[in-house]
Amino acid sequence: MQNSLIDTYKRHINYLRISITDRCNLRCIYCAPGMPIKKMPHESILRYEEILRLVRIGARLGITKVRVTGGEPLVRKGCCDFLEKLTRIRQLADISLTTNGVLLKRHLPRLYEIGIRRLNISMDTRSPEKYKKITGIPAFDRVWGSIHTAMEMGFSPIKLNVVALNGINDNELADLARLTFSYPLHVRFIEQMPFGNQPPETRQPLLAPDIRSRIESIAPLFPVSREANDGPARRYRFSAAPGEIGFIAAVSQHFCEQCNRLRLTADGRLRPCLLSDQSLDIKTALRNGAADDTLAGIFLSAVASKPRKHGLRCGCTPPSGQMGAIGG
Ligand code: SAM
Repeated sequence: MQNSLIDTYKRHINYLRISITDRCNLRCIYCAPGMPIKKMPHESILRYEEILRLVRIGARLGITKVRVTGGEPLVRKGCCDFLEKLTRIRQLADISLTTNGVLLKRHLPRLYEIGIRRLNISMDTRSPEKYKKITGIPAFDRVWGSIHTAMEMGFSPIKLNVVALNGINDNELADLARLTFSYPLHVRFIEQMPFGNQPPETRQPLLAPDIRSRIESIAPLFPVSREANDGPARRYRFSAAPGEIGFIAAVSQHFCEQCNRLRLTADGRLRPCLLSDQSLDIKTALRNGAADDTLAGIFLSAVASKPRKHGLRCGCTPPSGQMGAIGG
C-alpha cells in the first residue's frame, strides 16, 4: 500500500500513538510535575467508535503501526474490546499497549487471546518504597507480578520503560539493567523530558551517555542490529544475556529525522510532535459529520505541519501539556 502520509522533510509517517484516556491510577512525579491534574470532561474524550473511525482513515492513508496508551489505558472500561476491534483493521501490522502494569494481570488472558503480544510496561525502580515515592501508590508487587505472568504467558517483546531520574533512581540503573541477565526483558532507559513545572532539582536530566556509562560499568554492551519496525531506542545487550538494553535519548540525541509518528490525544487532537504544543483539532469535524475525505485532509495537514525537529536543545519553551493527556 502506498503511504500518503509523507511530510515536508520526506519522513514517512506510519505510526499512530493513541491516548484513549487522560485518567491514570498513578501520579508519577515526572508526568505532570508541579501541576494540578486537570481532568478532561468526559464528553470531550473520544468515544471508541470515533477513534476506530479515525484509525481506519489513518490506515487507508498509510498508518500500519498503532500503540494504545494514556493516561493509563487499562483504567478505561472496554479497553480490550477496543483493542480487539483494532486487530480487525487489516492494514495494521503492529498493535501494542503501553501500561503502568497495575491492572495488567487480570487483562493478560484476554490480551493474549486477541493477539496482542507487544507490551511496554513502566517500572522505574526495583524498590517497592521508591516505587511508591515515584508513583504515589504502593503497587510495585502488583506490577512486577504482572510482568512475570506476562513473561510466562509468552508476551514478547516486553519492554520495561525506565525514566532515568537524577537523585531518585540513578543509583539503581545498573541493577535494572541486570534484569536482562535473568529475563528476556527489553529494559529501556528514557531521558526525562521536561513536562509541566519541573522542580529545580530534576531540571538537569540524566542524559543517555551518562546512563550508558553507569550500565557499562557492569559489563560491555554489544549493539543489536536494528529491525524494520524499530522505535527510537538504540539497542544493546550484554554478552549471553537473554534480555536487551535500550536508550531513548529524546533530549540529548534527538531522533527527529527518523520520526514516523503522529499522536491522537484523548480529546481528539492530532499532535505532530510530542515536544511541541502544536496540534490540530480533528474531533470537531468528526462530530459535525465530516466525510472521510475531510478527516483524511486533517491527517494530511497534521503531517504537513510536523516540525523538522523539536526545540528542547535550542532554548524553546518546553511543552506545557500533561504527558498523561498526550500519551508519551
Ligand atoms: N500509563 C502508561 C504508563 O505508565 O506506561 C502510559 C502513559 S505514560 C505517559 C507513557 C510513557 O511516558 C511511560 O513510559 C512514562 O514513563 C513516559 N513518561 C511520562 N512522563 C515522562 C517524562 N517527563 N519524560 C520521559 N518519559 C516520560
